[in-house]
Amino acid sequence: MRIAMISEHASPLATLGGVDAGGQNTHVAELAAALAGDGHQVRVYTRRDDPGLPEVAPLTDGVDVVHVPAGPPVTLPKDDLLPHMGAFAEWMAADWRGNGRPDVAHAHFWMSGLAAVTAGRACGVPVVQTYHALGAVKKRHQGAADSSPPGRIGYERALGRAVDRVVVQCTDEMNELIRLGVPRHRMTLIPSGVNQARFRPDGPAFAKDRTRVLTVGRLVERKGVEDLIRALPAVPGAELVVVGGPPPSEMDGDPYVRRLRRAAESNRVADRVRLVGAVSPEDMPAWYRSADVVAATPWYEPFGLTALEAMACGVPVVATAVGGLLDTVVDGVTGDLVPARDPAAISSALRRLLTDDVRRTEYSAAAADRAVQCYSWERVAARLAMMYAGVTGVAAATAAGRSAAAAPTAAEVVA
Ligand code: UDP
Repeated sequence: MRIAMISEHASPLATLGGVDAGGQNTHVAELAAALAGDGHQVRVYTRRDDPGLPEVAPLTDGVDVVHVPAGPPVTLPKDDLLPHMGAFAEWMAADWRGNGRPDVAHAHFWMSGLAAVTAGRACGVPVVQTYHALGAVKKRHQGAADSSPPGRIGYERALGRAVDRVVVQCTDEMNELIRLGVPRHRMTLIPSGVNQARFRPDGPAFAKDRTRVLTVGRLVERKGVEDLIRALPAVPGAELVVVGGPPPSEMDGDPYVRRLRRAAESNRVADRVRLVGAVSPEDMPAWYRSADVVAATPWYEPFGLTALEAMACGVPVVATAVGGLLDTVVDGVTGDLVPARDPAAISSALRRLLTDDVRRTEYSAAAADRAVQCYSWERVAARLAMMYAGVTGVAAATAAGRSAAAAPTAAEVVA
């Protein structure tokens, strides 16, 4: 099958850890590679955000990354990309006409969905949508600080009806979309996977000289790193290692890093908090394996790959009971779930787990087992390919009725 993957802001070739580069980049890279491993041809379309990028760059055997010239070739916040989605769609449709039409387009994030539906209608290509994050959830948690373009929630609702299939990644996301008005029968639940060749219990681990709590992620407020810093005074003797954020050389100039350092000082734990900065995916397993516990304490979380990566490395997890973490972390079996934004609950869960060697050993074995049994990329790719085949059949029957001349604009998609 020829598969177009659209990931407008999250390139599978990007450096991870920055404000807009994390789980979606990993997801798209791993999924594309797994589908190619099954013999499919994948082209990933992402925005060209650097003039030096070639039009097409290989990611791995069977996967090409296509850099779409839409908007200025500079890094822009993802929330500023909406005005460029029309140009993105037009360029992609021309590419499909010139280089061969894909059998299916799989869009990641809502703005990619707008471009995919526009190009899909122009060329008769069925579209599958994965949201990765939902505007309604972001608005609920961030209120006035939500920087999403106006109308995001309406676009997301309309996309749920415009595409041929919605792939949700967790039960919580499905419930959110049902509340939004997307019919349940349009959705298929296929969770993300974890790279089991990379994330496994055996292998090197970075050294440590005290009990280590590790947290990994983009350094944005909703990841709950400050809640962990506030919890640390009540977890005596342990250090908190924070992986993610800008490259180490740029940490001192980062305003959020400075805020975290101030929080560590005012909580009198500055000597026990270490902010590492961005780490390459190759080094991630050695960080996970070095931890006694991995803490994933976001306020909300569409999926939460870091908890799953920790589990695959056989590390117990303390996670907030939100989003995808409710599905991946089995409370009392592979880790402990705690309420979000509750430093006292986080510290008591960490204390209990760090002082109970037997429980940690049990969680560790169950976590590694669950990651292997339920979250392999091969399994995800096989389920998706089956779903793509179904959608392609449906679209084959309806494509004839679609007029290439009547390509809708992004705005018309939601009309
Ligand atoms: N990651 C990384 N280096 C870093 C920080 C994060 O490779 O310095 C990776 C991490 O291993 C995971 C992803 O970025 O694969 C973060 O995914 P998650 O779903 O936890 O968070 P998101 O970025 O989607 O909010």
